[in-house]
Amino acid sequence: MGMSRFRINFDRLSRGARDGHAGAADSAAAPGMPRWPYLCGLAAATVILFFVGLETWSSREAELLSAVAIFMLVIGLLLRRNERFNRTLAAERRHLHTAVNNIPQGLVVYDASARIVICNQQYLDMFGLSPDVAKPGCTMQRLIAHRQETGSFDGDVEVFCAAIIRSVSLGKATRQLTEAPGGRAIEIVNQPLKGGGWVATIEDITDRTRAEQRIAHLAHYDALTDLPNRVLFREKLEQALRAIRPGKRLAVLYIDIDEFKGVNDALGHAVGDELLKAVAERLRLCLGEADVAARLGGDEFAVIQAAAESELETTRLVEAIHAAIRQPIECTGHLITTDASIGVAVASDGSVNPDQLLKNADLALYGAKGDGRRTYRFFEPGMDARAKARRMLEMELRRAITDGGFEINYQPIVNLRDGGIGGCEALLRWRHPQRGMISPADFIPVAEETGLINELGQFVLDTACMEAAKWPGHVRIAVNVSPIQFRSQTLALNVAGALAASGLAPSRLELEITEAVLMRDDEVALATLHQLRALGVRIALDDFGTGYSSLSYLQRFPFDKIKIDRSFIKGIAEEGASSAIVQSVVNIAAASNMTTTAEGVEQEWQREMLRELGCTEMQGFLFSPAVAAAEIRRMLRERGRDVSAA
Ligand code: C2E
Ligand code: MG
Ligand code: MG
Repeated sequence: MGMSRFRINFDRLSRGARDGHAGAADSAAAPGMPRWPYLCGLAAATVILFFVGLETWSSREAELLSAVAIFMLVIGLLLRRNERFNRTLAAERRHLHTAVNNIPQGLVVYDASARIVICNQQYLDMFGLSPDVAKPGCTMQRLIAHRQETGSFDGDVEVFCAAIIRSVSLGKATRQLTEAPGGRAIEIVNQPLKGGGWVATIEDITDRTRAEQRIAHLAHYDALTDLPNRVLFREKLEQALRAIRPGKRLAVLYIDIDEFKGVNDALGHAVGDELLKAVAERLRLCLGEADVAARLGGDEFAVIQAAAESELETTRLVEAIHAAIRQPIECTGHLITTDASIGVAVASDGSVNPDQLLKNADLALYGAKGDGRRTYRFFEPGMDARAKARRMLEMELRRAITDGGFEINYQPIVNLRDGGIGGCEALLRWRHPQRGMISPADFIPVAEETGLINELGQFVLDTACMEAAKWPGHVRIAVNVSPIQFRSQTLALNVAGALAASGLAPSRLELEITEAVLMRDDEVALATLHQLRALGVRIALDDFGTGYSSLSYLQRFPFDKIKIDRSFIKGIAEEGASSAIVQSVVNIAAASNMTTTAEGVEQEWQREMLRELGCTEMQGFLFSPAVAAAEIRRMLRERGRDVSAA
């Protein structure tokens, strides 16, 4: 009876040792009652029996009993050692169990006969497998068949298992990518073990794969609009050039959103971003399947028209793009109307160098911008020459600034009530040694682009203040200040310097700025405007009615004067908008103690209408164009005489 109990105990022990499932470690580790005290107790009982029965038992029986007692003692001691060993083993198993179930990867260890030795919970979870199947002793084939049943494997089970078993038996690691339920990407690495069998690590690489794909995408696509970027555009252009078929033409369009910076600065970057996204979407809708739209950066887009039949077909695409962009765009509560300048270059066969084609499209765009924007131009060979001429102009401008090729003319500003000259506007002139007089409309943009406007502006300010100091005390001088000059942050200091050097009263100096000053760096520009106002200088808003003419600019800074652009004065007699706009500007100005000056008055009837509308002053060829300093002095003297005679 005692022996049968021993056998049961041995069975339990050996079962615990054999059990390799990571989850089974718990049962082996459960602290069972130690067996050795029973055996030692039994041995002690035998010894007591031996002594008690010593008198009655034969020596043979006594010998047998003592042998049994010794045997039991030895077994008891052995079992005691075994218990300790088992406890250590159970603790180690517990650690192993904790470890394999706490790694992020799934793990399956196979023995040399391709049966599971260990598999962890992560593995079961990744593929949604049953622990009743995926457990120690299960064959690889059965496991993969179970994956097939549960939908995470759809190949041939036998072929698949045979391939892996072959590889690992040759000592070669294998790596597979597979998909788990829920579309997750799984990587399985089978690494052969030294003593036979192998370990399979199963990793969910969905996030890593997505991050890698995102990085690869970002390298080729614009993050805001998801259009191809400059790099991919270039690649696509090369491909498209190689693929031109006889009789077909490829066109590259460079598209620049007009005054985008104004929208961005006036309404904020979030609105600017929305506008760019909307433009991208509209571009996509205009294109054929083989065409490509890209965002090259900022407000610059490009299109490849892959296979046009004729120039007319390209023109149609350009016009469709223009029409699409010109449709008002709703951006976060603002209805924005925008436009674009488009440059087009055409290749009629694949031998055209892509760099040259892009350069030509750029030159054509430059031409469209030069022709007043909001239009398109096809590349013409002369455009290169024009771009060169502009670079030449820049060089000459630099030379003229150092050598002194500039002079200032003054245009009288006349009071509409009494006809007296209340002030003069200083207008810059460039007397070119070969080309004669160059208009500021031609060189001011170049000076602004190159930053030379700072030096030019300073020259105008100093000279005009010096000149005005010689005029009668009631005549003001108006000086135009470029938005670029507001960026230097020393503008107020420079103005103070010009006033001090000339001795001109600050109230006699009026600075004319355009709304572009307020569109850009609001806070800095506003601070400068307030510094200037603190000096006692007057500030006028020039060219009102062009650009965006947002009334909010009038709220942002208390201007002294609004100058109504000549485009409104031109159409003032026609029925409708112009005279109504002039009337409202005059009303708004009057309500805020601002004066109004009408620009470009050329006709007597315009003067009459302006007077009737309540405009304060006028300026224009009707009275006088801008004239040299000596001439304006004479004019002021004569007027003074007229006034005193009157
Ligand atoms: P603006 O400040 O609006 O100057 C008025 C422009 O209108 C001047 O052109 C003037 O000659 C012209 N004008 C005046 N009356 C009439 C008229 O009755 N009919 C027509 N058709 N035009 C008239 P200008 O001198 O060619 O100057 C053009 C622009 O160049 C100026 O427009 C101003 O924005 C800029 N500019 C001129 N001088 C300077 C300067 O010293 N600094 C800066 N930053 N810009 C300047
Ligand atoms: Mg002006
Ligand atoms: Mg003006």
